Amino acid sequence: MSMHEDYRHLEDSDRRFLWHPFTQMKEWEQEAPVIIAGGRDCFIRDIRGKWYLDGVSSLWVNIFGHRREEIDEAIKRQVDRISHSTLLGLSNVPAIRLAEKLIALANSGYGEEHSAGEKDRGRTLSRVFYSDNGSTAVEVAIKMAFQYWQHLGDQDRTAFLSLHLAYHGDTLGAVSVGGIDIFHKAFAPLLFRTFKAPAPYCYRCELQKTYPACNLACAERMGEILREHHREIAAVILEPLVQAAGGMIVAPPGYLKRIRALCRECNVLCIADEVATGFGRTGRMFACHHEDVVPDIMCLSKGITGGYMPLAATLATEEIYRAFLGDFRDLKTFFHGHSYTGNPLACAAALACLEIFEKEETVGGLAPKIALLEDWLREMAALPHVGDVRNKGLMAGLELVMDKSTREAYPWEDKMGWKVAHLARDNGVIIRPLGNVVVIMPPLCISIENLRQMLHVLRHAVISAVS
Ligand SMILES: *Cc1c(COP(=O)(O)O)cnc(C)c1O
Repeated sequence: MSMHEDYRHLEDSDRRFLWHPFTQMKEWEQEAPVIIAGGRDCFIRDIRGKWYLDGVSSLWVNIFGHRREEIDEAIKRQVDRISHSTLLGLSNVPAIRLAEKLIALANSGYGEEHSAGEKDRGRTLSRVFYSDNGSTAVEVAIKMAFQYWQHLGDQDRTAFLSLHLAYHGDTLGAVSVGGIDIFHKAFAPLLFRTFKAPAPYCYRCELQKTYPACNLACAERMGEILREHHREIAAVILEPLVQAAGGMIVAPPGYLKRIRALCRECNVLCIADEVATGFGRTGRMFACHHEDVVPDIMCLSKGITGGYMPLAATLATEEIYRAFLGDFRDLKTFFHGHSYTGNPLACAAALACLEIFEKEETVGGLAPKIALLEDWLREMAALPHVGDVRNKGLMAGLELVMDKSTREAYPWEDKMGWKVAHLARDNGVIIRPLGNVVVIMPPLCISIENLRQMLHVLRHAVISAVS
């Protein structure tokens, strides 16, 4: 078979045998698929040898680029020891080392005094429960929060409070606390009970208010729900600072801190889903660090292995952990686990990734890239049909609108975001939009030069798509 026939065969087989996630396969079958065969640094290469800039970080997971030597080597070294062994009834070396590291990292972003006080109350994050992906990290958090109250004898806490436009993954527990109708409505009959609070979406405020005059009315609305229903609510779950899949919705300053305070006031647990925001994306190691917020439970995944391997961690406070201790017959065990929980290869990749963060002081070094992105966003905001631009660190969204003065959205069936993405792809940049929101989320390691190149391509793609 010639190379050429081989590529054709791969394309045919993709269309015949694969079912792609979040993809209307009828459309997919009519297009030529881009099939990735290699990558290096911030670039990925298709089977025909065409290179693209990986502007979505391979769906928000990649941190240090592809084929990063230290991570490659860490995985190879671990393969030579053991690739998998279970955490059920056994332990393994990389899983232990990583847990210690994650706890240190999660607690290192706060002021000393703050940490000491919280530690006394068992309220710093001190335990790591592994799973395989962001959705399972959230399932674990939900079950943990629910069972915590059961153990305390509080039987009525069967509901959760989440936000409109929230995204916490695609398994049914995660969908229950989701708030994106287009994805979630179809499954409504299968879901458990939740209360929903307004999204902190200033550009399209549900309460028709304006920040800062609103005095965070959206948080206050959550406060009302909590004060009325706290006896039924096990936990509030939210994406700290950025509701990513909801459209890169950036919460106004003080919102997260206010929610945390409301949870304390009403004695409801607070779950921070840092699956998208974690590992430097927002300009701090974790988004919670920006507002000195210590959640009761924190969900991590995506960037944890630098985007190499599926791995997730749900971090909990000692207070929660202790509620599960008891005699065997008390049945206080946390009955949850997966076949690949704490997989040594994934944990080895994560350890290598965290070492690079330390060695290169990655988070501290992001400032010039963030500044470049913010300058670009400000310029873009002046263009016709660019309704709103928003970012936290290197997570950014640019919302396209049909009418800038009324903020009227393009009908979602018009796929404006996709028009931009396709034009960008023709010019060598891969992005993935969220409805009418163009998402900018490059790997943290992207050079200033490559970032400039990416933004240049996106600018032209936006201009041609809307004209
Ligand atoms: C992506 C994401 C998830 C789900 O992670 P998967 O690994 O895709 O299951 C959960 N929460 C947030 C905030 C996410 O962005």
